[in-house]
This record gives sequence, C-alpha cells and structure tokens, in this order.
Amino acid sequence: MKTQLIVIFLLVTTAILSAQSDTNTSSYQQIVKQTDAIYNSLVKIRRDLHRNPEISKQEKRTSQIVAEYLKNLGLEVKTNVGGHGVVGILKGDKKGRKIAWRADMDAIKTDEADVVDFKSKNKGIRHICGHDVHTTIGLGIANVLSQQKENLEGTIYFIFQPAEETFTGAKDMIKDGLFDIIKPDEIYGLHIGPGPSGEINVKANELFTYQKSLKIKFKPSTNEKELENFMNTILKGFVRNIEQNGSIWDIINKISDSEIGLTNKETIFKDYFILQGAGLNTDKGVTFYNASFLETDVKKVNSIPLEIKKQILNSKFKDAFISIEYSKDYSGTPINDPKLTKIASQTISSFYNKEMFKLLYGQAPYFGEDFLFYQQKVPGVFFFLGGSNIEKGISSMPHTPNFAVDETTIKYGVQSFATLILERTNSK
Ligand SMILES: [Zn+2]
Repeated sequence: MKTQLIVIFLLVTTAILSAQSDTNTSSYQQIVKQTDAIYNSLVKIRRDLHRNPEISKQEKRTSQIVAEYLKNLGLEVKTNVGGHGVVGILKGDKKGRKIAWRADMDAIKTDEADVVDFKSKNKGIRHICGHDVHTTIGLGIANVLSQQKENLEGTIYFIFQPAEETFTGAKDMIKDGLFDIIKPDEIYGLHIGPGPSGEINVKANELFTYQKSLKIKFKPSTNEKELENFMNTILKGFVRNIEQNGSIWDIINKISDSEIGLTNKETIFKDYFILQGAGLNTDKGVTFYNASFLETDVKKVNSIPLEIKKQILNSKFKDAFISIEYSKDYSGTPINDPKLTKIASQTISSFYNKEMFKLLYGQAPYFGEDFLFYQQKVPGVFFFLGGSNIEKGISSMPHTPNFAVDETTIKYGVQSFATLILERTNSK
C-alpha cells in the first residue's frame, strides 16, 4: 500500500514537473521566435536612444518614445509619474497574478569620447551605464508579451523610471502614487553587468554592498593631526577581507575573475568592509571627521557608529566628541527576496542555456541601485545581464569610459525575462 502510494505520488509529481517544464519550453520557444522577429527594430531603438542620451530628470524625449511605443502595442499608458516616469499596463485575457518589470532611462555626464559608431549627439552626455539597453529590453518584453495576450493569465506592469543615477527616480515615482496606479505581487528588473553577453546572474538577499558615509563632529581640538590619526586607526580596524589601495578598478576588475570573482563559490567578495575614504576637516569652528565605506553585513552597518562612539569615549578625545551620524544614503543594494530568487532561478534554468545562468556567491562592490525602494514595498528580484564580448573587444563594465554593450544581449534579455514574467503571471 505504502509503496503503491509512493509510486502514484512519484507519477503525479513527474507529470506535474514535466507539464511545468513543457509550458516553460513552449512559451520560451514562441517568445524566442517573436524576439528574433523584432530584434533589428530593437537595435534601431537602442541606437537612437544612445545617440540622444538625456541626463537624470531630463528624460523627456526618451519617455515620449517609450510612451508612444507602449501605446502602439495597445497598453494602457500613464506618463509623467514622478517626473518623466512612464507606466505601461498590459492586461491578459484571463485573470491571474500581477507582475511588474522595471527599466531605467537616464544617461550620465561624461566628457570621455564615445567608443561606438552611433555616437552620442548630446555633448558631455553618454549612456555609459547601459540604461539605453535596459529601456530597449523593457520595450522588447512589452512587445512580445503583448503578443501573448491570449495566453496571459494576469496583468503585467512596465515601469520606465527616470533619474536612477541620482537615486531619486524610484522614490519620486512611488511618492507620486506609483503603487496606487499599479498593484504588483512581484517586481523584477535588471542591470547590464560585466559578464559575457547573455549571461544572467542573480543572488538571494543583498546583491551589492551597503554604501555608507559617516560624519563625526568634534569641538575644535588643538591636536587635529593626532585626532585624525586616532580616527583613521579606528576606521581601519573595521577593514576586513578586501583593502582598497589606490584605484577602485583594481578591485572591480576582480569581480569577473573566474577564480575569485562573484560566480565562484570561493569568491573574495563575501563578508567584507572596504574603507573608501576618510579624513578630517574644520568648518565654522566645528571639526568633522568624514568616512565612507562599503559593508556587506547590515548588522555591522548598524553597529559601526556605536562601536566608534565607544572607542572615542574611551579615549582622550572624549570631551571633544559632539555627535556621530550617517549621512543621507545616496546609494544602496537591491535585496532579493530569497523565495522568489529561488523560483526565478529554477524557472530560468528550465529553459535557458545552463552555461549562461550563474548564481553569484558574493556581493558586488561599488554598485548602487535605487531598485531597492520598490523592493521595500513589493518582493522582487534584481538581475545582472552580461553585455561584454572579449572577442569583439566589448567591455560592459558600467560607468567606465570604454563602456559598450554587445547588442545580442538585448535578444537574450527579452527572451529570458519575457518568459520569466509570463511564467510568474500565469503561476498559481
Ligand atoms: Zn545604471
């Protein structure tokens, strides 16, 4: 009896599992075909956005192009949400779950020369963080999923966000009632990363580090040099596992290393504190000691000011001490919902090339993302999508002067994330 039950159970489970992966495979194959059909048009859009970059809060042209494209697909569109934010709503023919996808649209001020043929026409502004590609992938996903309307059991929301670089766009859209307009059960998004074109990376919980700046106030002291040395010693005491000596690029370049980089279980980017800068200065009779650092562990982030205060109060500088506080955060890490990260990883692995999906075992330093503000309201997952191609001499490390993207990653991004969103919307 017992054995029979197990056999039945196994048969049923196998049937469910294979039905699941059949759905994945068939919808993926259909989406692959639909993506192939629009790929050239997506490349055209991406190049147009690249030629006409707009800095944070000035994404007028970009947002108009986005809104127009979504309207032409038949989506319900809201514009000027929290600045130049655009929201597109795609309702499936059947009822189901509600999934949001977010893309950002802004470019960056830089005087470094563009490395591509379709150069920026706006002097001093370039897409060196890949948001032109993010926007294009978002439009591509909206396009193929609008063709899946009949199979769609639920609603998909597309958020095209302004001002990510200033870390204000997500907050502004939320403040302007984003979550009154849309009620997603889950939210997803991506950033171009330095991996090879099409490689998808993800990690549960913190994807990056916490970036913090401390401001410690003292009464004017006669021996400021001594105070500075004392404070430097305290701050250096927190450094663990990774040291920043000189250029940050020495560290950043290691994140893609196959031995010690993020995709290796033995990565050095686990449990670390990097001291970015620290120093003393005096302003209007008050002495300030400022320090900025990256920390992987939120518990440590919370305890560091208390520990520093304790050490100061136990020193000869105790009478000079006034206060210690964190400056307003300008940057932070997405925190990926562990359950959804697991489901998303399984879903993507079920249809995607196994070599092109890699979990991360460490937290990427020096990256920041305001996607975290959505995740404070709705559980979600943020991915890296690789855009480099060594053979073609393309490096997609964000914010570097030579930043470029192998455009084939647009295709991979649309295919895989459109399938993921469809699966999540239709899931029970
Ligand atoms: Zn970016």
